[in-house]
Amino acid sequence: HKINVCVAAGCLSCQSGLVKDSLEKEVNRRGLENWIKVKGVGCLGLCAAGPLIYLEPDGVYYQAVSVSDVSDILDSLGGSPVSRLALSDQLPFFKRQRKIVLENCGKVDPESIEDYIAEGGYEALYTALRAMTPSEVIQEITTSGLRGRGGAGFPTGLKWTAVSKAMNRTKFIVCNADEGDPGAFMDRSVLESDPHRVIEGMAIAASAVGASHGFIYVRAEYPLAVKRLRTAIAQAERLGVIGKNIFNTTFEFDIKIRLGAGAFVCGEETALISSIEGRRGTPRPRPPFPAEMGLWGYPTLINNVETFANIPPIVRNGGQWFSDIGTEKSKGTKVFALAGRVNNTGLIEIPMGTPLRDIVFEIGGGIPENRRFKAVQTGGPSGGCIPEQFLDMPVDYESLAQAGSIMGSGGLIIMDETSCMVDVAKFFMEFCMSESCGKCIPCRVGTTQIHNLLTKISSGAGCAADIPALEELADLVKSTSLCGLGQTAPNPVMSTLRYFRDEYTAHIHDKI
Ligand code: SF4
Repeated sequence: HKINVCVAAGCLSCQSGLVKDSLEKEVNRRGLENWIKVKGVGCLGLCAAGPLIYLEPDGVYYQAVSVSDVSDILDSLGGSPVSRLALSDQLPFFKRQRKIVLENCGKVDPESIEDYIAEGGYEALYTALRAMTPSEVIQEITTSGLRGRGGAGFPTGLKWTAVSKAMNRTKFIVCNADEGDPGAFMDRSVLESDPHRVIEGMAIAASAVGASHGFIYVRAEYPLAVKRLRTAIAQAERLGVIGKNIFNTTFEFDIKIRLGAGAFVCGEETALISSIEGRRGTPRPRPPFPAEMGLWGYPTLINNVETFANIPPIVRNGGQWFSDIGTEKSKGTKVFALAGRVNNTGLIEIPMGTPLRDIVFEIGGGIPENRRFKAVQTGGPSGGCIPEQFLDMPVDYESLAQAGSIMGSGGLIIMDETSCMVDVAKFFMEFCMSESCGKCIPCRVGTTQIHNLLTKISSGAGCAADIPALEELADLVKSTSLCGLGQTAPNPVMSTLRYFRDEYTAHIHDKI
């Protein structure tokens, strides 16, 4: 038997580490170590029910496990599950998902390269280096239709092609792990759960575009992810899957970690480059794009964690396989962090095109206390609120944009009838105001002015002229800011004004 104990940050924060230690001790005390393996694994997904464990081959999940449950769990192996803890793996939360990026999460020990290799890890890198040419690898990525998962959705194959064509002997690969949206924890979970997957994706990208140095730019606020990445890089170097003469070829590749200091704007690629170079993380105008002029002026490929994590399965199974999943223009799956007023908060992965209703009511288990669904915020502070009338909309890049939001990196925050949409807009604007780097005036001054107006309206002191003033300011900040932070900061205001205008006017007319 295998007992997989989630040791990602969510479950660790509710003492899954103690549960794992206690299980190991009890297995040893009973002399069962040859029969039962207790393993720490990455995120099992249903964070709301942690600490979670998963039993193999029984196929049983146990939720909210504590140290006092350990004896009962061991007694139950091979027999009837402990009913007070058991969760069926037939629940829609598990059955409705399709895991590609997260396929190893909850399965492999994130601190063991041997475990990763046992699940087919580094096979794709071997194939890319020994059985394919760089242009064939890029062709597969292009065929797959994969689009950047960091937010903008730019076609990955096109980006790789641009870097591969850049005429320079020195090129860099950067993994953007500066996840900063409120309510988003997809990249953190992938790094904590399966760090080798990201390293392998980066190495394949480097071999395809002709780069030999990589950086992972990760937030210092993610200490567990950083620790596991450091361990994984050291293991990969020890086994020679990064370093020199990888798989007896002339390809060499190293990876260094750079810690971000918590500035949201450093997720913007030119600010991120500046920060890695040791300068203040502020954006610069593009072009030139990093593909031509990135780190220290050299061609640089920047993709986010989830994008890199998609690469090994695409190389393993072929671009066409990936392209058959999802919708016409949005291929593959998407990882979302489900948060807010929903029963099953946690980490999910679904095929592109899954209706929003299925995400909220089937996978998410609906709204607590049977309250009424009001809206879902996608794309974090750069996105928008999608109201109830769009619940049957398929979740893909185009549909979300049509509804006035964006896919973003994958935060989904659910709101119910008790949420005030003016407060929601104010919350996100406060975030953008404090994260504005101050380099350009529309964003530096505009976000503060919008926030002042929202504070005035939400406190009941607003007047009728405030709404057109809000709209004018939002339009101005959107169209004249230098980088994506400012250009998208007004989105939550614009989308709540579009769908929940009555809540703004109620504050103004009823002075509430
Ligand atoms: Fe800085 Fe905002 Fe201007 Fe971006 S838009 S450069 S974050 S001030």
